[in-house]
Amino acid sequence: MSERTAEQVVESVRAAFAETFGHEPEGVWSAPGRVNLIGEHTDYNGGLCLPIALPHRTYAGVSHRDDGILRMASAQQDGVVEVVLDEVSPEQPGGWGSYVAGVLWALREEGHDVPGLDVLVDSTVPVGAGLSSSAALECSVAAAVSDLAGLGLLEDAGSRARLAQVCIRAENEIAGAPTGGMDQSAALLSDDATALLLDCRSWQTEQVPFDLASAGYALLVTDTHAHHELVDGQYGSRRDSCQEACRILGVDQLREVDPSELDATLEKLPTDELQRRVKHIVTEIDRVEQAVAALRSGDLEEVGRLFDASHVSMRDDYEISCEELDVATETARQHGALGARMTGGGFGGSCIAIVRSESVDEVSTAIDASFADHGFTAPSSFAVTAAGSARRDR
Ligand code: ADP
Ligand code: MG
Repeated sequence: MSERTAEQVVESVRAAFAETFGHEPEGVWSAPGRVNLIGEHTDYNGGLCLPIALPHRTYAGVSHRDDGILRMASAQQDGVVEVVLDEVSPEQPGGWGSYVAGVLWALREEGHDVPGLDVLVDSTVPVGAGLSSSAALECSVAAAVSDLAGLGLLEDAGSRARLAQVCIRAENEIAGAPTGGMDQSAALLSDDATALLLDCRSWQTEQVPFDLASAGYALLVTDTHAHHELVDGQYGSRRDSCQEACRILGVDQLREVDPSELDATLEKLPTDELQRRVKHIVTEIDRVEQAVAALRSGDLEEVGRLFDASHVSMRDDYEISCEELDVATETARQHGALGARMTGGGFGGSCIAIVRSESVDEVSTAIDASFADHGFTAPSSFAVTAAGSARRDR
């Protein structure tokens, strides 16, 4: 985990940009990673989720070019990737460059006139940890293009929501990752000390107060460093199960299932597995509403109980947890956490726990020890606060 300040990263982006491309960037823009507090795998079911933006950000130094070429370099990757804008496709340029090229492609698809660019990125978001380094990358570049091409898409919540849709298209259609939209919305629409309640059916958002520190608590994130294979296939198969259930139930999205009619709904599904998948989605959407109410009334113990219930639902019904995530959350609970749950797509990545501010070190150390006992790779834990969205830094 990088301890670098924003100022330091901006400076190092400018220096690396000049060294790589032989001239200064026109500016540096950044966008945050996120953790989802609750509401997992609900986004592609038209449901609710509740992310916060992290203090960890991806910074992009950017200059426009007049020749329709996109050149990209990253402090987290070797070499320079180059592609002609007219030739961007799921195959071209491929690899990490497709997250950047996809944003330019999607803006052009939406009818915007977008120039070629030189781009150099550096990030304090752990890559591939379920903290959405991919959306941080897309949205930092999207913010830069909006300013450099005079598109004005950072101006207000409405235009930022449109820019989020552009970044979703980039990730789905060019990078080839079938993500639902929470990550990009969090990166573009979040605010300090608030969580973002995102309705993935209407795409409406609401700010919900999230300031654990003033109540004497902290949100501890643990990156388990576990990345189990099958992630992509399992993600797709969960989406397929939800679609199959919708067909059988005659609804467009599982959001339409009323939680008070859950039992009767489950009886219509042919297999135990499909029943458990639907049960997770319907109860998880309901838990988001309950968590929002609890946050608004300052009832953190209730939020903690909902975290625990969410984890059990993901472990037993949706079956997207793994040993590392179960051990980390269980250890946090044993050391006094109000609640703990895996966050993100699952099968590895990160978990979150609400712990007393003075217990952050104790809980992190306990998780380290449990991982050592189990023979797992050492994890990284860090306390986070809710931070702001994509912006120009320099
Ligand atoms: P997550 O979004 O949870 O971190 P993903 O698998 O969705 O994980 O996205 C990670 C991918 O995004 C990386 O494999 C890489 O292709 C790209 N990426 C993210 N951050 C960077 C970065 N700073 N530099 C280059 N590529 C990045
Ligand atoms: Mg991602």
